[in-house]
Amino acid sequence: MHPMLRHPLRFGREHRFTFEHASQYLDDDLDEAGRERVEHHARLCPKCHELLAALHRTISALRELGTGPGEPGDSDVADGVIARLRAGR
Ligand SMILES: [Zn+2]
Repeated sequence: MHPMLRHPLRFGREHRFTFEHASQYLDDDLDEAGRERVEHHARLCPKCHELLAALHRTISALRELGTGPGEPGDSDVADGVIARLRAGR
């Protein structure tokens, strides 16, 4: 039987945990136990798998632009990106 059906309550709890901690997971800000919870759940849950993949793409794109979540000067760089996008470049 699929684990989601066998443990519906636990699945819901892990699903919320993964959603709430997805960005910390990708920033490597979670402890070992937290990472294992996210990785384990993402293997069972297509939605969380896709969420992590989408966030990973976004963060990689931001890093290529020379910024990332939590870095100093973040908002200045983000403003610059928005200005460039508005200018069509
Ligand atoms: Zn999930």
